[in-house]
Amino acid sequence: MSTSPSTPLSSDRSLVDYAKSLDCIHCGLCLRTCPTYQLTGVETSSPRGRIHLMRAVAEGRAKADADFAEEMDFCLLCRHCESACPAGVRFGEMMEHTRGALATARPHSLRTRFLRWLGFRVALPRRWVLSLAASIMRGAQSIGLWPAIARPFAPREAGLEHFPKVPRWSERRPLPRLTRASGAPAGAVAMLEGCVMPQLYGRVNRATAASLAALGFDVHVPAAQTCCGSLHAHNGDLEGARALAKRTIEAFGERLPLVVNSAGCGAHLRVLHHLFEASDPWHARARELAARVRDYTEVAAPRLSTLGPAPDSARGVLEGPLVYDDPCHLCHGQQIRAQPRALLDAACRAAGITRLELADSESCCGSAGIYSVLRPVDSKAVLEPKLESLRRSEARTLVTANPGCQLQWEQGIARAGLDVRVLHVAEVVARVVEHEVSAPAAVDPPAPP
Ligand code: SF4
Ligand code: SF4
Repeated sequence: MSTSPSTPLSSDRSLVDYAKSLDCIHCGLCLRTCPTYQLTGVETSSPRGRIHLMRAVAEGRAKADADFAEEMDFCLLCRHCESACPAGVRFGEMMEHTRGALATARPHSLRTRFLRWLGFRVALPRRWVLSLAASIMRGAQSIGLWPAIARPFAPREAGLEHFPKVPRWSERRPLPRLTRASGAPAGAVAMLEGCVMPQLYGRVNRATAASLAALGFDVHVPAAQTCCGSLHAHNGDLEGARALAKRTIEAFGERLPLVVNSAGCGAHLRVLHHLFEASDPWHARARELAARVRDYTEVAAPRLSTLGPAPDSARGVLEGPLVYDDPCHLCHGQQIRAQPRALLDAACRAAGITRLELADSESCCGSAGIYSVLRPVDSKAVLEPKLESLRRSEARTLVTANPGCQLQWEQGIARAGLDVRVLHVAEVVARVVEHEVSAPAAVDPPAPP
């Protein structure tokens, strides 16, 4: 950060969502849930402390200086504090507001502004740029130039050497516009492919479409979709988030339920209308889309029982014991806890393995969007106790439901030298249903109903 520690940036009330900050009753029940408070033990690094800082700035009792900005940046936006809060404080919305206002008020360094522009405005909204970047990364990994080639773009401690190998193109190619149901008909859904997901975890998208088709859904994947803008909103680029929200609304205008297999994107899309003033015509359109958003597990879980008992061939398709780690934006952001467990229990029964509960599964893994890139030291420190819980569990498979968490766990497990496979819940389901029904048929469009 280029700002001098003593430079006051603003005492403007507009930096803070003051009305929401008044909901806090200072009870402190959120403190033990907060990963940054657990790291420092300092009140200002806790949810209550951050709200206190925000209020002090709004009331002119404190300056929004670099120390204030640092505490806002230190937060992972995991929203664990919201689950603990008896007063219903909407901390995530408050933090997005403050980060958005700070991004305007705070003069980032030229390098940071360039990297933000490159990431948020050039790469994330354009699939072909992301695809090109992934190809370059794969090429660099193959000829031993990785991580040297990425050093100028990431902090020294980013641990780039543990970054997973970028998959080959056949795994990164776009999904078919329509995958026809192969199981007993259950209707049609649209599916979000995401921005980074196809490049790093195309296999997860394929497992998502294939398992939904096996569970009876026609899966429509509009070609016009792009990044949903959640990374922009979390990191203070609200203008970029609004532009991508409009593109997403246009792309998914077919009124089908919108299935999302990335918890961070799903949590963002469910409150998409918050990006627009109520008087803005886009507000109503965003609210309509938000009401159609469904996490993958919500759609798949009720259908799994329709497949009947698993044949013996499903045994051995998973390595046990298996644990599930709740992505923050699924359990705290969308209050979804039971459905992934129901899916995994059914899959574990079919595969003949045991599912165990992971200690502190609802605490943040430290991924937090691009937090792990921007603040690798803090990100690794947040993951450390969870790695210890994983080691103690003696699990052989760890399951998540968010690409950022999947990446964070893969890198952490590689660093720790653990023999644990990381899978997305859709990959687990796909492995089991592939043994229940014949492979789903992928076909080119006709237009969706
Ligand atoms: S969002 Fe997470 S890191 Fe931020 S204050 Fe709340 S619990 Fe702490
Ligand atoms: S739990 Fe809620 S009300 Fe209590 S201190 Fe934390 S944010 Fe404030």
